[in-house]
Amino acid sequence: LRRNPGEAEFHQAVGEVLESIEPVLTARPELADARLIERITEPERQIIFRVPWEDDQGGIHVNRGFRVEFNSALGPFKGGLRFHPSLNLGIVKFLGFEQIFKNALTGLGIGGGKGGSDFDPRGRSEAEVMRFCQSFMTELSRHIGDRTDIPAGDVGVGSREIGFLFGQYRRITNRWDAGVLTGKGTGWGGSPVRTEATGYGNVLFAAEMMKRRGEDLAGRQIVVSGSGNVALYSIEKAHALGARVVTVSDSDGCVVDEKGIDLELLRQIKEVERGRVSDYAERRGFSARYVPGGRVWDVPADIALPSATQNELDARDALSLVRNGVRAVSEGANMPATPEAVRIFHEAGVAFGPGKAANAGGVATSALEMRQNAGRESWPFARVEQELTAVMRRIHDTVHETSERFGEPGNYVLGANIAGFERVAEAMLAQGLV
Ligand code: NDP
Repeated sequence: LRRNPGEAEFHQAVGEVLESIEPVLTARPELADARLIERITEPERQIIFRVPWEDDQGGIHVNRGFRVEFNSALGPFKGGLRFHPSLNLGIVKFLGFEQIFKNALTGLGIGGGKGGSDFDPRGRSEAEVMRFCQSFMTELSRHIGDRTDIPAGDVGVGSREIGFLFGQYRRITNRWDAGVLTGKGTGWGGSPVRTEATGYGNVLFAAEMMKRRGEDLAGRQIVVSGSGNVALYSIEKAHALGARVVTVSDSDGCVVDEKGIDLELLRQIKEVERGRVSDYAERRGFSARYVPGGRVWDVPADIALPSATQNELDARDALSLVRNGVRAVSEGANMPATPEAVRIFHEAGVAFGPGKAANAGGVATSALEMRQNAGRESWPFARVEQELTAVMRRIHDTVHETSERFGEPGNYVLGANIAGFERVAEAMLAQGLV
C-alpha cells in the first residue's frame, strides 16, 4: 500500500486475490515462500509515455500512454489497451494483475499485461482517432513484439483502432508481424470469433454455472449493463440460447425493453452510427423506455451480466438483484461487482462467476489468433467457436473442481483465484529469482 499510494483499484484487486488464496498458502507452504507474493504483485516492467497529437482544427493535445508488463512466467505479456479519460496507472495495474490469473486459467501459454491511455475517443472524428493511434503506437512499438508483449483491444479500442495501430506498427518497423497485436480484421490476420468471444464466452460460462444447478438458459430473463463489445455479443449468444435480454446501458443512462433487446437495431446504432442507448429507445417504439442516469440492477432477472466497467454493481444493487430472485451473476466486465456485492451474492447462494474466469473467452480467442498467425493459417468460424466453447467449459470445470478441493464447492471466486495463482506460482518458482 505504501509503495503504491492512490492506486485504489489495484489495491482492491490485490486484496481480493490475497484473501482468497490463503487456504492454498496454508496447504502448500512452498508457494508462500521466496517472497513470491511480493514478486507477483510487482510488475516486471511499467512504461508511461507522452502521446502528443493534433486535432482537426490544428489544436495540440497531450495524453498519457501506459503499458504495464506484469508477469511473463507463462508466456509473452498479453492483455488489452483501454482508451478512456478515467484511465490512470492504478486502473492499468488492476487490469494487468487480474489478467495474469485470467490468462493462467485459460491453460494457454500467455503472461499478463495491460495498457492504454487517458485519451477520450468520444466525439472525436475518425481522422483524429487515427492520428492519436499513430502517435500512441510510435512509442508503444519499441516495447511490443510477438515473443514479448502482444496487446489487444479493451474499452474504447475496437477493430477500427486495432487497424490504425497495426498500420502504424507496420510502417515504423517495416515488418508484417501479424502476431504483434490481436483483434485484427479477419481479412488481414485476425481470427473469426475474436470480436464475439468475450460476450459469447461469458454467456457460455453463465450457462455452465446454471447447469450445475440443474437449470438452463432457455426462457430466462437476463439484465445486461453496457452497450459495447462485450454487451452486444452477450446479448447475441443469450438470445441464441433462448434467453431474453431486457436491458442495456451506457454512462448516461439505461434502457429497459420489455419485449427483449432488438439486437439488429442496437448494432446499427452502436457499431454503425456510434450512437447512444437513448437513440435505441427513441427508435424502438413502445416496448422500450430510456431512464436517464438509470441503472439496470433494479429490473427483475434470473441472470445478471455486468458488462460495462469496474465497480458498477455495488451492495445496494446486489440486494436489489437478490430480492428480485437473481440466480446467477457472471462478470463480462473486469471487477464490475464491488467486494460487498460479491459477499451478498455468496451469502444469498447466488452463483457468482468472477471476470477472470467468466470473461476469459476474449483472451483465449486472442491466443487462438496467435496460433493461426504463427502457422500462417486461417481457421473457419465454426472451428474457433468450438475451441472457445471447450475452453470456457474447461475453465468452469477447473474453477469448480478447485473450489471443491478447498472445501467451498461453488465458490468460483476462491476457485478462480487459487487455480490461476497455483499455475503462475509454480512457473515462477521453477524459473528462479527473476
Ligand atoms: P466498450 O468500449 O466496447 O464498451 C463499454 C461499454 O460500457 C460502453 O457502452 C460504455 O458506455 C459503458 N460504460 C462505461 N462506463 C460506464 C458506466 N459507468 N456506467 C454504465 N455504462 C458504462 O468496452 P468492452 O465492451 O470491450 O469492455 C467492457 C468491459 O469488459 C470492460 O471492463 C473490459 O475491461 C471488459 N473486457 C473486455 C474484453 C474484450 O474482449 N473487449 C475482454 C475481457 C474483459 P459509454 O459509451 O457511455 O462510455
